[in-house]
Amino acid sequence: MNEKRKQRKKKKRPTAGEPYPVTRAVTHIRLVEVNPGKLAALDALAPVYLALCQAYVTLFCTTESPNKLRDPLYQTPLSERWHRVAIMQAAGIARSWRSNRTTAYQQYQDDLERHQKHQAHGQLSAHAKEPQWRAWNVPTLREPCIQANVNVVKLEESRDSTYDYWLTISTLEKGQSIQVPVKLAVYHKAALTDPKTHQGKKLNSSVQLNQRDGVWWLTLSYDEEVTQETVAGAPVVGIDVGIANFVTTSTGKQYGSFHKNLRARHKRDRAKRRRKAKLRACLQKKGVKYLPSTSSRTGQRLMRHVKHEINHAVHQCFAEPEHQGVQFAYEALSVASMRFKARAQNAYLRASNLGHIPQQIAWNSQKRGVKATPVISAYSSQECSVCHYTDHKNRPDQRTFRCQVCGFEAHADYNASVNLSRRVGDRQLRACRDRSAIKAVLMQRHETWKQQQGMGNTSPVKRRKRGESSAAVSSI
Ligand SMILES: [Zn+2]
Repeated sequence: MNEKRKQRKKKKRPTAGEPYPVTRAVTHIRLVEVNPGKLAALDALAPVYLALCQAYVTLFCTTESPNKLRDPLYQTPLSERWHRVAIMQAAGIARSWRSNRTTAYQQYQDDLERHQKHQAHGQLSAHAKEPQWRAWNVPTLREPCIQANVNVVKLEESRDSTYDYWLTISTLEKGQSIQVPVKLAVYHKAALTDPKTHQGKKLNSSVQLNQRDGVWWLTLSYDEEVTQETVAGAPVVGIDVGIANFVTTSTGKQYGSFHKNLRARHKRDRAKRRRKAKLRACLQKKGVKYLPSTSSRTGQRLMRHVKHEINHAVHQCFAEPEHQGVQFAYEALSVASMRFKARAQNAYLRASNLGHIPQQIAWNSQKRGVKATPVISAYSSQECSVCHYTDHKNRPDQRTFRCQVCGFEAHADYNASVNLSRRVGDRQLRACRDRSAIKAVLMQRHETWKQQQGMGNTSPVKRRKRGESSAAVSSI
């Protein structure tokens, strides 16, 4: 279905039975050209708008803090109304860029601090490198995307049956607007009709226009009331997020995978980008002014494809019959844990795609009215879900979890998802200031477990040698 989150708003987490609004988008509505040249005015406007928006993005990312209501600064042939729309959109882009950069910078500082601490104590491994901060480039707007409000683009229902809507778009020429008809596909209509009352849904007045390869696309949106359906005390299903398996649940299910085909495509794309980067560096040395870009079309297509696969995997997980009436717990992935999780993969992948999985989980829970709680993920892959013993040696390889103390053995992602399912409302863990405090709490729990089992202070290695029988404890 062509419905997607339009924007992610930070909201208070809803309580059961309480309705809350969700904005849903209907995408990929192609603007039809009834007579040739009809959209020429829009084609003419696009580059002007893009350049103006880019100027404010640069301003808001470098010298000023993003301000949606900033007074116009630059000269433009666009009307004042269009100018304000551009400022508003640029402020939004700059704000998210700034917040992403802040998060990354904090992470860098934490890494640096840890590195220096290890260095001071002489605990640095031979191949440890000092973390480096790389300056972020200001975002470049490539393809026209216009987030228009009613001041510049008016959406009206059509009176005759040939078309569904009419868009009135103001152009570069003062007082000259164009009228573009909108025809909806059957599945667009289905998405915009209330299944109970068979009435059309009330559309939001702001629309988005995208130009891709010379074709214009329209995105419409509407608000929907969703009621939180999850009852208090509903059983918790833990979700572990990864690249080998996108989603693994504590009910023992796996959805989606970065499988062979995708992996091969990704490898090819990476090699291509490397070649391009080499060429670029070479040209730069020779003093060539205009350098070729290293981003590739196939790479972008691949990213879209992986995102699509992720969406499908998360959807399957929520639609699973066994998962009705439950609540979910998933990893609140930080940049650090992402890096940790995807060490075997490369930067490109982990940055762009791993973070998309928790976003999709949050979105699915929101639109379905199902409770999903982000929980602390630190050590969830190293902690034994039976005895809480936490050690990286519990992971002999990427796939396997084998406890050094109690001998519990399982798929590593499954073990992690069980740990995550128990971390909802874990105040003791939430109170921890850093990873070492979390590890201390987990090891303390392990001690408690040992006492309950009537074990003394046996070291992990010794226990493993005679620990065959305790594997029987692993009945969960
Ligand atoms: Zn164990």
